[in-house]
Amino acid sequence: MRTLLLFAPVFILAQVLSGGVLADERTAHEQFAFELFKELIESDTTHATGDTLAVANRLASRLRDEGVPEPDVRVVVHGGKGNLVARLRAESPLEKPLLLLAHLDVVAANPMDWSVDPKRLTEQGGYYYARGALDVKNEAAIHLANFIRLHREQAALRRDIILALTADEESGPHNGALHLIREHPELVDAGIVFNEGGGGLIKDGEYIANTVQTAEKTYQSYRLEITNRGGHSSLPRQDNAIYELAGVLSRIEAHEFPVRFNETTRAYFAGVAESAEEERASMLRGLLEQPPSEAAIDYFRNEPAINARLRTTCVATQVLAGHAENALPQRASATINCRVFPGVPVADVEQTIRDIADMPGMTITAKWDSLFSDASPLQDEVMIPIREITEDMWPGVIVMPTMSTGATDSTFFRSAGIPVYGVSGIFTDMDDNRRHGRDERIRVTSFYEGLEFLDRLTRAVAVRSEP
Ligand SMILES: [Zn+2]
Repeated sequence: MRTLLLFAPVFILAQVLSGGVLADERTAHEQFAFELFKELIESDTTHATGDTLAVANRLASRLRDEGVPEPDVRVVVHGGKGNLVARLRAESPLEKPLLLLAHLDVVAANPMDWSVDPKRLTEQGGYYYARGALDVKNEAAIHLANFIRLHREQAALRRDIILALTADEESGPHNGALHLIREHPELVDAGIVFNEGGGGLIKDGEYIANTVQTAEKTYQSYRLEITNRGGHSSLPRQDNAIYELAGVLSRIEAHEFPVRFNETTRAYFAGVAESAEEERASMLRGLLEQPPSEAAIDYFRNEPAINARLRTTCVATQVLAGHAENALPQRASATINCRVFPGVPVADVEQTIRDIADMPGMTITAKWDSLFSDASPLQDEVMIPIREITEDMWPGVIVMPTMSTGATDSTFFRSAGIPVYGVSGIFTDMDDNRRHGRDERIRVTSFYEGLEFLDRLTRAVAVRSEP
C-alpha cells in the first residue's frame, strides 16, 4: 500500500497543534462557512418536528441582503416544508446551469443517546459533533458559503449556478427535490448537479480514495399474499397458505438476477482492486474481463458489498401468516424488497417476481410507483477537474466512481435525464460511519478541505477561465 500525503501543507501546523483547524488560523472564508454551518446545525430541521420553512426564509433574506436579485431567490413551499432555490446568472451562458444540491432536513436524534447535545455544534478532539454534521448540513453550508462568495466576487460565469437546499429527503411525503423537478422544472433545469453521496475514504488513518457517486439502485418493494379457505388444524390438507408462501420465498431466494455492469461499477471494481490484496485484486480484475470470469462472480457471491453492485437483488424482509395456533392459515403474506440495477426497467423485475410467484390464490402488489433511473455518464467536463483537484490537494489519492445500493435525491434528477455527481472531497473514516446514528461527527480538517475542494470544483465547472 502506498504512503500518501495526508494533509495539504497549509493544514499541517494546525494538525500538529490541535488535530483540527484552529479558530484563529481560519481564513475569512473558512470562518464564514463555519458560521453558516453552526447556524444550520442549530436550526431545528428534524424531519417531523423541525421547521425547514423558517430556515429557508431566513437564508433567502440573507441572500437578498447580499444583493442577489429578488427574482433569483425563491422559497418554494410544499406541504408546509421550505425549499430554498437561488440563482447566480451568467451574462451569456454557454451551457445549462450547474446545480448545487443539499437537503436541509435531518434524521431525529435522541439527546439521551448522545454524549453531546445533538442540536448544538460541539468541537471536540478534532471533530465537529452534531446531528447533520455529516448528513448533510456540512455540504449545505459549504455550497451556501461558496455560492455567496462567487456572488460577492461577481465572478464571470460560463453557466448559471443554482443553489437548492431542500426538505424531506430523509423521509416524508413532501420531498422537495422531487417537487421542484415536477412542479418547478424551470428553477432546477440543470446540465450538471452536485449532491451528497460521495466523499473521501480514510482507512487506518490513510486517505485512500475520493469517491464520486454516479449511480444508485432503484428501491421497490412488493407485497405477496396468499389466501386460503383455512380450516381446523386437526385436519391438514395439501393446500396450505404458509407452506405455499414458504415455497415461493425459497424460489425467490434461489433466483439470481443477471450480472450487469456500467462504466461506474467497472471503474469502481478497478479502483477497489488497486488497494486490495493479491487474490481479491485478481478476482476484481476477473469481473472486468469480457465476458466476466465465472470464478470471479462466484468468488463475490458471499460478499454483499460487491454482489449487490453486480446485479439487481430482491430479498424477503417481512412475513406475516396465520391467525390462530389451532387453525389452518387463511392468509400468508411477505414483503420482498428489491434494489434494481440502474438502467433496468423496474417492470422487468416485477415480471420476474410474478413469474416466480405465480400460483392460485396469490396476489402481488408493488408498494409504490418507483422511478426509472440510469447511471450518470463519467463525462470529462466533471471527472477531469475532480481528478486534477484531488491530485493537487491529496497527491496519490485515486478518484473512484461509485454506485450506491441505497437512494438519495439524485435519483429524481437522474430519472429526469439530468446527470448528478455525488461529490464532496470530505474524507471520513470507512470504519466510523455515524450518519443517522449517535454522536454523528465530521473531522474538522475534512470540513475545511471539503470547502476548498467544492469551491475549486464549482469554479472549474462554472466560472469562465481567463482569456
Ligand atoms: Zn443525506
